[in-house]
Amino acid sequence: MNRVMNIIREFMPARAVIVIALVVFVAGCATTGINKGQVNIISSDEEVRMGQDFSKEVEKQFEIYDNVEVSTYVQGVGQSIVKVCDRQDIEYHFAVIKKDDLNAFALPGGYIYIYSGLMKELDDESQLAGVLAHEVGHVTARHSTERLTAMYGYQLLINLILGDDPNFYASLVSNIFATGGFLAYSRANEYEADRLGARYAHAVGYDPRGMTELLGKLKGTEEREPSKLEELLATHPPTSERINRVNGIVAGLPGSEGTRNKETYQKIKGKLP
Ligand SMILES: [Zn+2]
Repeated sequence: MNRVMNIIREFMPARAVIVIALVVFVAGCATTGINKGQVNIISSDEEVRMGQDFSKEVEKQFEIYDNVEVSTYVQGVGQSIVKVCDRQDIEYHFAVIKKDDLNAFALPGGYIYIYSGLMKELDDESQLAGVLAHEVGHVTARHSTERLTAMYGYQLLINLILGDDPNFYASLVSNIFATGGFLAYSRANEYEADRLGARYAHAVGYDPRGMTELLGKLKGTEEREPSKLEELLATHPPTSERINRVNGIVAGLPGSEGTRNKETYQKIKGKLP
């Protein structure tokens, strides 16, 4: 690679060489097998910094439900999933947003949020694990930075590294939050997050059927009160197709019996706003 860089250096100003060197370096460091063959020019460190900034923005725009018992519980379930997941180079954070809609999302860098409205719809811990594991799946597969790379390409990297245009970052954040929506992942991303999520929840010891039941609940709400699912459906494929696929995955997992922790979950549910 040195020879290549020397050749490039002769024809380019020093600053551009730094960028190219970083691009070559980042592209050369494929992470886990699940991210093989995908273009992602943002390093893990950059992703974490971006996640910190985005999470500040989220916490400005949404009310975080600040109940110690509830947040400790959600953190506990979330971190148990993190222990078995494919990406261990970052820290993960879980928080509850006080909102009646049914939604959950992951920011770059491992910042995961679930709405209190979705938690209230669930019956037990295996279903909550299904939601959180799906979001962890988005993070381990690096879907958000893949999307950003596809949307903004090398301009993003150049701006992040050189800080050439301070407005670029601000406009990036406001673009993403403009519609109250978040990075819309592709359908393939969603199915991958479901697949990884089912595998992670099962690896922790949860009954993987919790994941199918959770999707069944979303389907029910979709039919009864579609307005509560507006945000989720804007970013996710049709629930019926997700159910079909997750059923197939769950059927292939050995021993579908597993942890439910229904009583504990019900107690926590009683503390939701
Ligand atoms: Zn998703």
